[in-house]
Amino acid sequence: MKVYLETMGCQMNRLDSELVTVSLRAAGHEMTDDRCDADVVLYNTCSVRRHAEEKVYSRLGGDSRRKAHHRPRLILGVLGCMAQREGAELANRFGLLDIVCGPGQLARLPELISAAADGSRVVALDPDPIEARRGAKATEGAASADDSDFDALDLARDFQDGHAGAQAYVRVMKGCDNFCTYCIVPLVRGPERSRRPERIAQEVRRLVDAGVSEVTLIGQTVNRYRWSDGSRTFAFSDLLADVSEIAGLRRLRFVTSHPLDFTNDILHVMAERANICEYIHLPPQSGSDAILRRMNRKYTRSQYDELIDRAREIVPGVVLAGDFIVGFPGEAEADHEASADLIRRSGFKNSFVFKYSPRPGTAAARTMLDDVPDEVKRRRNNELLAVQHEVGLAHCRSYIATTVEVLVEGPSVRAGKQGFEPTPQRTQLAGRTRGSHIVHFLGPERLAGQYVNVHITDATALSLQGDREAGQE
Ligand code: SF4
Repeated sequence: MKVYLETMGCQMNRLDSELVTVSLRAAGHEMTDDRCDADVVLYNTCSVRRHAEEKVYSRLGGDSRRKAHHRPRLILGVLGCMAQREGAELANRFGLLDIVCGPGQLARLPELISAAADGSRVVALDPDPIEARRGAKATEGAASADDSDFDALDLARDFQDGHAGAQAYVRVMKGCDNFCTYCIVPLVRGPERSRRPERIAQEVRRLVDAGVSEVTLIGQTVNRYRWSDGSRTFAFSDLLADVSEIAGLRRLRFVTSHPLDFTNDILHVMAERANICEYIHLPPQSGSDAILRRMNRKYTRSQYDELIDRAREIVPGVVLAGDFIVGFPGEAEADHEASADLIRRSGFKNSFVFKYSPRPGTAAARTMLDDVPDEVKRRRNNELLAVQHEVGLAHCRSYIATTVEVLVEGPSVRAGKQGFEPTPQRTQLAGRTRGSHIVHFLGPERLAGQYVNVHITDATALSLQGDREAGQE
């Protein structure tokens, strides 16, 4: 069958979709980019923000009409966090929906599609995340997960085809036990569980053998990775150290980190291993102690500031990025100012800024009044973006007249807007530095996937611009 798969949300979802694509192809299906031509339409969804869910409802409304009037055999499925959050209710709401599949059940997708083709309606959800957490807490070494179902999808990865050129993501842990009061993740992705270190290293080694040179280790709170086999406990810094030793791995990154667990051992291993990139995505979410407390972030503003100072001291040239939520319940102007101040003090390369929206089931939605008016949220959102723009510009301009190593990703979206017709021999290329800056420069398309040195001549708040050093092919 022809399968259309659309992905919303974070890197975890993008990796899930990549792995799902491999398993669907292995089952004999063909992937298509054309939703109208597909026999199976799947949405891998995100529940973190209301907007993403509304987009899925709107897509499902259109697909249901098409199925009802023109394509009765069309199979419709919702995967991922929203499927887990809404479960059977989603199937009730959209009477023509065939598959509802939680994030932990994705390895079963080929089987679910076959059942749907036979006329069954299938709802495959993970166990109740709160119950699962109670079970996990009762076991020794709770953070380690050794059941084969847990990383079945990762283990089935196709090392020849399923990754994008020189870069690949590798999952190291799933779930989250932090329960930030605004966040749906602990309720849809279940308890924190870490993968066996040997399996992670083996996956990275096979990717490197297949031509990958930059690997990003991912987890909801990646720095809380912990594997225990009874005799030895393996922390995130141990995992980083082991993976960084894999021959041929030129760059190693990781996202996303929680400030609470960012211990010095991680910073030291970053400083010691040449192939670990000096980049940390470290979302503060707010610069105000009162709001951090209400968010249940479990650190204070001064602890965050101190962590940034330590990171700068131990990892020379470290590049930092943040995330913020504006308009959290009870956020006063002074709290908002504290967030702006934190951006200035931290010198973030970039920050994602989101307006708070209550997510059903979370503690904030249950117990706090969404009392910041939407126009105030919008204004604060714009103000934080303006501060970030200023800080990001100063940060990026500090690279002018330096030379940076760039992993070339391919032609830039700007190609063709430079006042000349791009050719395969000369086009605008885009790539990334070790610090995750986007760099634009002119060169031939064949450089995609290679490393080049670029002399930086100009910068915006979001990217660097430069000239490739002569003699590099
Ligand atoms: S650390 Fe907080 S924000 Fe991040 S996934 Fe866990 S609960 Fe959500």
